[in-house]
Amino acid sequence: MSSERVTSDLLLTLVNTRPSENGRVDQLDDVPGLTAWLAGAGLTVADPVTGADVAAARELRDALTDILRVHCGCGDASAAEAEAYLRAVAVRYPVVLRVTVDGVTAEASQTGIPGVFGTVLAAAADLSARGAWPRLKLCKNPSCHAGFFDKTRNQSGQFCGAACNSQMSMRAYRSRRRTAPTP
Ligand SMILES: [Zn+2]
Repeated sequence: MSSERVTSDLLLTLVNTRPSENGRVDQLDDVPGLTAWLAGAGLTVADPVTGADVAAARELRDALTDILRVHCGCGDASAAEAEAYLRAVAVRYPVVLRVTVDGVTAEASQTGIPGVFGTVLAAAADLSARGAWPRLKLCKNPSCHAGFFDKTRNQSGQFCGAACNSQMSMRAYRSRRRTAPTP
């Protein structure tokens, strides 16, 4: 697995804890939810997770979601509020640079939950350094809105997968037929 994949996967697993009309349930709605997400992401913390951690995780998730919404050009999405929020929390969850012969990587400078959030921000920095940040998008199917990594050559992907693609093509076809003049 490439490290680009690893960093995008971490961000996507966070964004995709959001509920959706097509069946995803909110996985970050309580302490057990956040604990399970941490375990699934391989990010274990020594201290017990608190309700405040859950609230902070949701805020970070929702701000990142807003950025991905702009990446997909969904509606008239604006990320100004999310950018301001992320600028503020980046101070709370700082990352440091590790400079080696092979390259420079960003890493969280703290442990515990602040370290986890720092790792999330470091993953975003890593994707951005690879020029892949705009490829992290939300699916344009309104009943889905899952985060996905756009692998298309010209960065034109709009849907998280074939199912959403065909569902939306079908919907567009039907609405064209409805509006077509009858002979
Ligand atoms: Zn989708």
